[in-house]
Amino acid sequence: RSQAARSRAIEPAVTTTGVPIAVGANVGSVEEARAAAANGADLAGLVRTEFLFQDRTAAPDVDEQLAVYRAIAAAFDGRRVTLRTLDAGSDKPVPFLPAPPEANPFLGVRGLRLSLAHPTVFAAQLQAIALVAREAPISVMFPMVTTVGELRRARMMLDEALARTGSGRPADLRVGMMVEVPAAALRAADFVPYADFFSVGTNDLTQYTLAAERGNAALMSLSTGLDPSVAQLIDLLCRAAGDRVPVAVCGEVAADEQAVPRLLASGVRQLSVAPALVPLVKQAVRAT
Ligand code: PEP
Ligand code: MG
Repeated sequence: RSQAARSRAIEPAVTTTGVPIAVGANVGSVEEARAAAANGADLAGLVRTEFLFQDRTAAPDVDEQLAVYRAIAAAFDGRRVTLRTLDAGSDKPVPFLPAPPEANPFLGVRGLRLSLAHPTVFAAQLQAIALVAREAPISVMFPMVTTVGELRRARMMLDEALARTGSGRPADLRVGMMVEVPAAALRAADFVPYADFFSVGTNDLTQYTLAAERGNAALMSLSTGLDPSVAQLIDLLCRAAGDRVPVAVCGEVAADEQAVPRLLASGVRQLSVAPALVPLVKQAVRAT
């Protein structure tokens, strides 16, 4: 790639009216983190931690997790890294968190529900996150949050991990949640006091809003692109968030050039996409 293209990729993305939009990357490995940084990602908008330890039969201990989180933070070299706690269950089983057989795994014990059901495994992950948060700008993000009670329980466990790992709170630490369950979008105002940021998972939010399983090829016409119903939920969320809580989108529509102007019009100010798509999405922002 030419030097000009490279520096264009690294430059921040600003709309034609001068609104800066952070364009981050979704990563599931240290290699992807390096690729994302090379492609000019402004941050890691989503680290899918369940992919980091997928082939493990025993839960990774604190040190092992810390080493991987450190390597990802090093790849992003001072830029923010958003560590999503394990989003296991449903289509992403992890061997060390056995989930009982379920008739409808997408509606079952997955994401934060599964972590809260395994407090020892969850506490170890939060401890590793608390440690790396003392070294780099880290955001913690909880997946599949449905109720304020769940978010508060998760935050309490994070606070306990922070207390175990040192004194005081890392100044750069932010704590937020995925908005991927329609109930959370509809009741966004209730979550505002407990979230430093919202990040919309449009893959799941679309699945749950349209009752169309995300991987089902026969339903692709329902689950591809930004459905108007999902756009309305994002509008609601942005209105409830106001200027108190920034709203990001980290689902696949964040990389859809047709969806980008609509998302920005709703008030979304951060997008996070596959590492290879970062330059394209920055261009889409600059054209908006
Ligand atoms: C989403 O649901 O849109 C999302 C970003 O999370 P995942 O694809 O990992 O479920
Ligand atoms: Mg999801």
